[in-house]
Amino acid sequence: MKTSDVITVFDTHAHLDSAEFDVDRGVVFSRLSGVHKVDGKLVSVSGVVLPGTDLRSSRSCVEFASLLTEFYAAVGIHPNSNVDSIDVDWRKLCELAERDDVVAIGETGLDRYRNITPMETQVDLFCRHIDLSIRLGKPILIHCRDAWDDVLPILRRSKGLTGVIHSFNGTREQAMEVIDLGFYVSFAAQVTYRNEKFTGLHEVAKIIPAERLLIETDSPYLVPHPFRGQLKRNEPSYVVMVAIRLAELRQESVEYIAKITTQNAKRLIKIM
Ligand SMILES: [Zn+2]
Repeated sequence: MKTSDVITVFDTHAHLDSAEFDVDRGVVFSRLSGVHKVDGKLVSVSGVVLPGTDLRSSRSCVEFASLLTEFYAAVGIHPNSNVDSIDVDWRKLCELAERDDVVAIGETGLDRYRNITPMETQVDLFCRHIDLSIRLGKPILIHCRDAWDDVLPILRRSKGLTGVIHSFNGTREQAMEVIDLGFYVSFAAQVTYRNEKFTGLHEVAKIIPAERLLIETDSPYLVPHPFRGQLKRNEPSYVVMVAIRLAELRQESVEYIAKITTQNAKRLIKIM
């Protein structure tokens, strides 16, 4: 095997603290450092950003990041997470966020799809994450589901904020606006899906400037085509399927997409 045959990828969003990995997390972690075969391609994962979804999850992400050099921790409270006391959890999360080994703030954002947490609380938490991100100079990881009309006005007035719109599933106009505002756009498995409802997203994937493009798995969710239905969960090495699909849509080589998205990810979390 020549090293040039191996595609090196960087997964910018994986919830490896999720309960889906409780039974065999050690195995998943030990596999991560090696070379895998995914859909006939040799894949090496050079980095994985682990976003926290609440205080406990954020602590796990920090702990995992101390175990493998490939792991980078982010801390945050997901808009759908239950919080007992926002003020207490928030204070502890801020302390965690200051650590040198925490590279980003999130996952945060707004979600009108599941609507578990009242919108007022979601906005309060989102704005706290934004202030923290700006204060610490660490990028923000944004979740936006059916909430573009709420998220965009907040981003427009948040001067000095940078980060990523993760698992992007918006329109061309929304993509262009977040690019103009200085954000990166991260694609997950939706671009690999062939359903008609994703054709708009395929077009968006063609027009994102290469230097703002990122890829992610959102593990354990969003298993990519053609493994959907076969695998019960997603893992970081499968991010290569997103790179392959972007290469196809953008008429570029997989190697180029893998390289540019890895460079972008490193620039985003300042590990260049
Ligand atoms: Zn997520």
